Amino acid sequence: MTDQHLHPDTMAVHSGRADLAELGVHALPIDLSTTNPLPDIERGGDSYEAMATGGRPPADGSMVYARLWNPTVARFEDALAEMEHADASVAFSSGMAAMTAVILAHTSAARKSHVVAVRPLYGGTDHLLGSGLLATETTYCHPSEVRSMMRADTGLVVVETPANPTLELVDIAEIVAAAGDVPVVVDNTFATPLLQNPLDHGAAMSLHSATKYLGGHGDVIAGVVACSERIAEALRRVRAVTGGLLHPLGAYLLHRGLTTLPVRIRQQQQNAQQIVQWLIDQPEVDEVFYPGLDGDPRGILERQMRGTGAMIAMRMSGGYAAAKAVASSVALFTHAVSLGGVDSLIQHPAALTHRPVPADARPDADVLRLSIGLENAGDLIADLAQAFAASTVMRPHRPANAAAVSSR
Ligand SMILES: *Cc1c(COP(=O)(O)O)cnc(C)c1O
Repeated sequence: MTDQHLHPDTMAVHSGRADLAELGVHALPIDLSTTNPLPDIERGGDSYEAMATGGRPPADGSMVYARLWNPTVARFEDALAEMEHADASVAFSSGMAAMTAVILAHTSAARKSHVVAVRPLYGGTDHLLGSGLLATETTYCHPSEVRSMMRADTGLVVVETPANPTLELVDIAEIVAAAGDVPVVVDNTFATPLLQNPLDHGAAMSLHSATKYLGGHGDVIAGVVACSERIAEALRRVRAVTGGLLHPLGAYLLHRGLTTLPVRIRQQQQNAQQIVQWLIDQPEVDEVFYPGLDGDPRGILERQMRGTGAMIAMRMSGGYAAAKAVASSVALFTHAVSLGGVDSLIQHPAALTHRPVPADARPDADVLRLSIGLENAGDLIADLAQAFAASTVMRPHRPANAAAVSSR
């Protein structure tokens, strides 16, 4: 890691491509080989050994087998590491596969079993940690409680900022200080490396559901973790053993998508800011959740982020009935989970993305989450306006599945 980084706009276009001219190509090459020729038995064996323990293929060796190494994936990993100011990154078949590897590498593989998890978290992460599937014990807490929750057998601290779906900001440096020697993983999915670099604030790992902004076009499921080379070795070892690989075609699309990430984020953020300004004046909306709207009283946005992003949440004055009506009345927005793509999405966190979260920690039933895309902001506002109008004429009804929504 150096203090001298190229501008992120430049990194997005050029990172992971330094050797292309030497190769005599201009576009990113794709290698779909599942197996690779071995120079001889000894060097084949040494290569296998090096990668099975999390290392890179030796220069005079072989990549052996694609579960151990793939050059198209490694090229994307190099690019993402550079954008996250990290030594390395390790890509996985999904954000959850990435989180699973992070947990395994820091709990069972490190002979620890306790995780401290700062809520709110993405529903899938909250569920994975609470399910006991990975034989971990999890203490959920508020950011201010991390220090008092740390134990001798704590192997990992998990935090997400901006948090999903309420866009709360957590001070990364404060969590790192409270965690002491224990590594902190920050889910950086909402911010992307453009708006936030958790390693610069002391986090050991920055994790992305690359399915969201990094891919940006709704056609790749992937996850990636940026970290030190030492942690990368531990994660590659878990990946080689458990097999949560990213396919090279997915890596190619992600690497290609990185080039437009800065312009996408800037335009999506500008649209989101315009929509937030409109939303705060609407009587159908009780509360708008967006970074900085509260005036950033603790200066976290100012210290930690380079922008406010393109995710918005809103509390409907008409409660769950209004949320339900709006979600089914939009026309330009797609009523669908996921986020970060070029097109705008709307969804109900309590019933969908945060459904596995225990009721006392689940988002409220009157909250909708918006992921703002690249459409014209005026058109998106007009779509919300017609959905709000439709929601006020619809008669309120009981939730179809009362268990899926919290009320308070
Ligand atoms: C979607 C998401 C995940 C999970 O990623 P997948 O690619 O769906 O496995 C994790 N964290 C956040 C914040 C997400 O939005």
